[in-house]
Amino acid sequence: MSVYPTTYEVFDPATLEVVGTAPLHTAEDVECAVALAGTAAAAWAADREARRSALRSIAVAVRDQSGRLGEILSREQGKVLREAVMEFQVAAGLFEYYADLEWYQTEQLPERDGRRLAVHYRPVGLVGAITPWNFPISLLAVKLAPALVAGCTVIAKPSPSTPLSTIALVELMNGFLPPHVLTSVTGRGVLSRALSTLPGVRKISFTGSTEVGTAIMAQAAPTVKRVTLELGGNDPAIVLPDADPAFTAAGIIGSAFRNAGQVCMAVKRVFVPRSLAGELTEALAAAAAGLVVGRGLDTGTGMGPMHNAAQRDLVSSLVTQAVNDGGRLAFGGGTGTPLPGYFMEPTIIADAPYDTPLVCSEQFGSALPVSVYDDVEDVLAHLNGQEFGLGASVWSPDLDRAGELASRIEAGTVWINQHTQVELDAPFGGWKASGMGRERGRWGLSEYLQTRTVNAVTGQHSIPAAGVAVPVSGAATSGAAVSGAAAG
Ligand code: NAD
Repeated sequence: MSVYPTTYEVFDPATLEVVGTAPLHTAEDVECAVALAGTAAAAWAADREARRSALRSIAVAVRDQSGRLGEILSREQGKVLREAVMEFQVAAGLFEYYADLEWYQTEQLPERDGRRLAVHYRPVGLVGAITPWNFPISLLAVKLAPALVAGCTVIAKPSPSTPLSTIALVELMNGFLPPHVLTSVTGRGVLSRALSTLPGVRKISFTGSTEVGTAIMAQAAPTVKRVTLELGGNDPAIVLPDADPAFTAAGIIGSAFRNAGQVCMAVKRVFVPRSLAGELTEALAAAAAGLVVGRGLDTGTGMGPMHNAAQRDLVSSLVTQAVNDGGRLAFGGGTGTPLPGYFMEPTIIADAPYDTPLVCSEQFGSALPVSVYDDVEDVLAHLNGQEFGLGASVWSPDLDRAGELASRIEAGTVWINQHTQVELDAPFGGWKASGMGRERGRWGLSEYLQTRTVNAVTGQHSIPAAGVAVPVSGAATSGAAVSGAAAG
């Protein structure tokens, strides 16, 4: 790694002030990090208990320091301080969960025809963890925790605009890890390209846009890297006619404007029956009006700025187009604060046509279109005909009816009477263009493991014909041949 790398400035999206500087690493720095990770790999992969113990200590330290670390994150990302602190607490929970997960001991399969089989689990090797700017810490931890417990080494590459919180987390973690097991590289897109093309990297775990995810998959193909892709989404909330408007509006607003709407699995659009449209839109507008817009670090702020000018300008232009296409501004449209950053009030567009881009593309910001339906089957056909399939929610007190609808939605997660809650032990990921592979739970761990099947003939009592091994049923067995090296 460059001893004195060039640095670049990182900005606060609320005030546009410089909040720090980060190393501008080069592709050569990535090569160097890959080589150094290679020196740490074998010892790290060999001692499973040491890995679990390190992760438990890291969890305690991250939780203890979540206040200090959360401030760094809030400043560079813009999010409300309590949400930033929560990211580190979520990270601590993930480290503990994976440290305690009992799952990947060597498995003995049932003996058959004089053969004894064992399945070993081994780490996939060096992982490149590439993360976006919306949840720089929790989305990194959901990769680090299973990768490290599996015995992989990791190079973390955060978004160029949110490097400081990643650097702080990696620095803290390195107080508990052997040298070169975990490194971060910060700077421009050239780093991701290096990670996804270098042969020493065995897996890319990427969270970000579908566009960049597919580029990374192509870059990773020549060296046959494994890839996990957590990509974009355009989650609908489908409200059924018997839903309670106040309960439903509060739940939808809590999801839609968290992190200023920049959440992959936030409610991005609402489908409401004509009979409930007026009442629900009013309730949504009232709940949105209750959100105080401001700097994430300021007490009382309910929603921070959007993260960058391009995102704010895009969402704002989609709102204008939705109104031109026949939608109606029910709340918002302004900035909501005199601060100079990339602010946009929580904005509700009523009667949004299904085909306006605010509804049918991923808008990723502080706007929420509400579309009316007459037959929920039309909504289902419309949604399942689209490319995104990350999440969705159904809102109704009738759980049987909601569950039946949920079972026909093409998405990785379907919530009922809530949206955005994820669990440590349940898989998360997308269908179709929303991604491949899964994070969280045992599914998340399996993404960082590879199997080795050892298939042994249990004796040597007959001469194989023409080099073909002939199993001898009932021959004397030797279990030692197959119990061999398990995942360390
Ligand atoms: P992005 O795709 O622009 O960037 C993600 C990462 O890829 C960053 O580290 C970035 O530096 C890097 N990158 C950018 N261009 C690259 C290129 N050409 N080659 C290689 N690497 C490159 O995403 P973003 O704007 O940071 O984040 C927003 C997107 O992330 C949204 O689409 C959102 O839906 C998605 N997201 C998905 C999930 C999920 O779990 N499915 C979670 C959060 C965000």
